[in-house]
Amino acid sequence: MCAVYPSRVGEDRITPGSQTSLREANRARIVNAVQQRGSLTQVELAGVTGLSPATVSNIVGELTASGVLNTSPTTRSGRRALQVTLARNLGLVAGLHFGTRSLRVALADVAHRIVAEQRMPLAPDHRADAGLERAALMVQEMVASVDASMSEVLAVGVGVPAPIDVRTGRVAMRGVLRGWDGAAVPEVLGARLDVPVFVDNDANLGALAEVRLGAARGMQHVVYLRVSHGVGSGLVLDGKVFHGRGGAAGEVGHIAVDERGPVCRCGNRGCLETYVGAAALLDMLRASHGHLTLRDVITRAEAGDPGCRRVIWDAGRHLGVAAAGVCSLLDPQAVVVGGQLAEAGDLLLEPLRATVAERTFPSANGPVQVMVGELGSQAEVRGALATALDHVSIPAAVVP
Ligand SMILES: [Zn+2]
Repeated sequence: MCAVYPSRVGEDRITPGSQTSLREANRARIVNAVQQRGSLTQVELAGVTGLSPATVSNIVGELTASGVLNTSPTTRSGRRALQVTLARNLGLVAGLHFGTRSLRVALADVAHRIVAEQRMPLAPDHRADAGLERAALMVQEMVASVDASMSEVLAVGVGVPAPIDVRTGRVAMRGVLRGWDGAAVPEVLGARLDVPVFVDNDANLGALAEVRLGAARGMQHVVYLRVSHGVGSGLVLDGKVFHGRGGAAGEVGHIAVDERGPVCRCGNRGCLETYVGAAALLDMLRASHGHLTLRDVITRAEAGDPGCRRVIWDAGRHLGVAAAGVCSLLDPQAVVVGGQLAEAGDLLLEPLRATVAERTFPSANGPVQVMVGELGSQAEVRGALATALDHVSIPAAVVP
């Protein structure tokens, strides 16, 4: 057994061509596939990489012997199979999700296995520097709690509820997230933790996680709607998150559903968010139900409260109008719904699904699938871990 050393972004990826053999390129394909998906059977690896089962089996054997991969017996559809993951001891990654009200931090190994997770409330309108300082302390404490050191952390992914220019890691629109305008997240957190930091919009990360590990696993074209306090979306096109010109792609919450509607926090009129954001739902119920939280509305709707059921049903229809527009434009395989309101399940999904079917052009492939995400409130932090892992170079070469 010989040691392998994963490296941080930009360092010593193997160069294609030159004397790099086809075999080395195939090794890299296998390592990349496992790195992205966490774990795959050898048969699934052959399907994903297009390599023959014999080649996959050979390369997996070599990479296991050199300590890059790990295999364990499992079953798939009643048959025995060999599950392939990256070797756990290659290092750790951290994922952070700054929600509107809380911060979630997860620590995982390179095989996507979460080894520690924590959540803490955030003061509304907190400043970015205060939030980042608390996040840095949490990461350090969690690393210590699993008896690891910061030098084992290879990268950190961060999700923020605002459009992010991924080239700079900065919030791309002023006034959207109070206290975070101009915050240099990668620089501040990177300097504090001495680890490379990668930032993206939280709905984009939720989309990435549902495509890699959740409800839309294996799909190439997916619209992820995140409906909580705000409304956002992440678009995966051709298997990749689509950011647009400067990170503001997928701001579905600010699509106008009524040009004469109420004025939105963005300054426009009749945005989707003014109808289905938590503030709008709670406002509609204030006169009849008094002060509620979004959680109360979902719980009461499940218990049969007609007013709470009505606002969630109407939210589903409004979401459907916007989603139908997005589907007509992009022709996705699925619309995956996440965020807290997705916990209402079919009460939200039924009107959403019906409205999308009603308002989109009938396709020979049948209606687009509309489904609740599998990863729930963990989607964004799992996406943050995935984006961190995407920036880690795992050596695919067999060290002699
Ligand atoms: Zn708006």
